[in-house]
Amino acid sequence: MHQKRRKRVAVIGAGLGGLTAAGFLQRAEFAVKVYEQAPAFSRIGAGIILSANVTKVLRRLGLEDALVAAGIKSRQYISRAWNTGETMYEIVFDAASERRNGGPYVHIHRGDLHAVLERGVAPGTIAFDHQLVDLREAEDSIQLRFANGATAEADIVIGADGVRSKVREFLLGPEPPQFVGAVAYRAIFPARRLNGFHIPDCTKWWGTDRHCLPYFLTGRRDEVYAIGVVPAPGWDSDEASIPSSRAQYLESFAGFHPDLQRVLEAVDSVSLWPIFDRERNDCWSGGRHGRLVLLGDACHPMRPFMAAGGAMAVEDGAILSRCLQKFDEPAEAFRSYEATRIDRVGKVQRISIENSWMRGPTDTDWFYCYDACAVPLAF
Ligand SMILES: Cc1cc2nc3c(=O)[nH]c(=O)nc-3n(C[C@H](O)[C@H](O)[C@H](O)COP(=O)(O)OP(=O)(O)OC[C@H]3O[C@@H](n4cnc5c(N)ncnc54)[C@H](O)[C@@H]3O)c2cc1C
Repeated sequence: MHQKRRKRVAVIGAGLGGLTAAGFLQRAEFAVKVYEQAPAFSRIGAGIILSANVTKVLRRLGLEDALVAAGIKSRQYISRAWNTGETMYEIVFDAASERRNGGPYVHIHRGDLHAVLERGVAPGTIAFDHQLVDLREAEDSIQLRFANGATAEADIVIGADGVRSKVREFLLGPEPPQFVGAVAYRAIFPARRLNGFHIPDCTKWWGTDRHCLPYFLTGRRDEVYAIGVVPAPGWDSDEASIPSSRAQYLESFAGFHPDLQRVLEAVDSVSLWPIFDRERNDCWSGGRHGRLVLLGDACHPMRPFMAAGGAMAVEDGAILSRCLQKFDEPAEAFRSYEATRIDRVGKVQRISIENSWMRGPTDTDWFYCYDACAVPLAF
């Protein structure tokens, strides 16, 4: 066997990006292990939007049908004004747009998404309850140590460990992410609580300093997710989220159009999540011997206002795996990965900060039509 096919890759974090990279690298016969700090995937009360640029990548891992079966192929996205309810923009997802974009536009429960992604890697690939605490770089390998006392060795370490990445800390030094001054209400509830009130597959309600996005999570349209983002002066909890209430959610969107009030009145249990990001930093790889690399939120966390952070992690995973197949030398692979990804990710990061995506008429081709499995690799 060719030497490059035996490289041992340790992926830290079994999120969207880590599992995508692991799935592709395994298919290219790298020896891949994924280390995840959580004892198991938990079913957090949240949904996620996966646009065509994501679904076409996951198709290559054989996951498209399962994604669509577990989630919903959305028929439309509508932007509406908070007070008048005026439609500011509408995009229809039909067979023609699916052909044009190269994949469907899917909404899915995050718990269901993880169950699908897990099928993209070989059984036994993910080591749960493995929180990376230490990393030592020798000339020809990297030693990893986990909180449970286990150790491991790898040739390449992919830090796919999210916004509080430990691998990033080894690469760039400790630097906490920044609270962006906004929090997100997240609520999932059965559609029957709408008492027959009809809602489109996805609507974004645009206020002056806040927005709310109710959308269906299943093809049966029997489960709804409503994420509402509002300004907040600070976040002083150590928890990833805190419980909230329907009353608090409604109060935060008081004065919004009655159609949104009807949806929020149907909300059942609600949690509140802080939003963090980082200043853009284009150093995504390195280490003493050039064997560490980051992807997704570990290197470019972004505000969730374009629903694109997960998409960028999945695209990163696909491109990074292609670069590692093309270049034997990790440093060359990482250079190509960064050169291929940084401009696109920077643009998405900027639009996410602006919160301008699909507010009005928008050119979406550059985003949805992108195919991370086929675009030329830069160097
Ligand atoms: C409110 C909100 C709504 C969003 N909506 C969307 C959306 O609709 N569409 C979209 O594309 N994106 C959305 N995003 C963004 C998206 O969730 C993230 O960008 C995406 O999850 C990043 O994926 P990732 O694989 O980089 O990291 P993550 O999904 O965060 O995965 C990181 C994993 O690493 C593990 N980990 C962390 N530290 C360690 C360690 N030391 N050792 C071992 N394991 C570790 C974690 O437990 C976790 O499983 C949203 C984000 C927020 C906050």
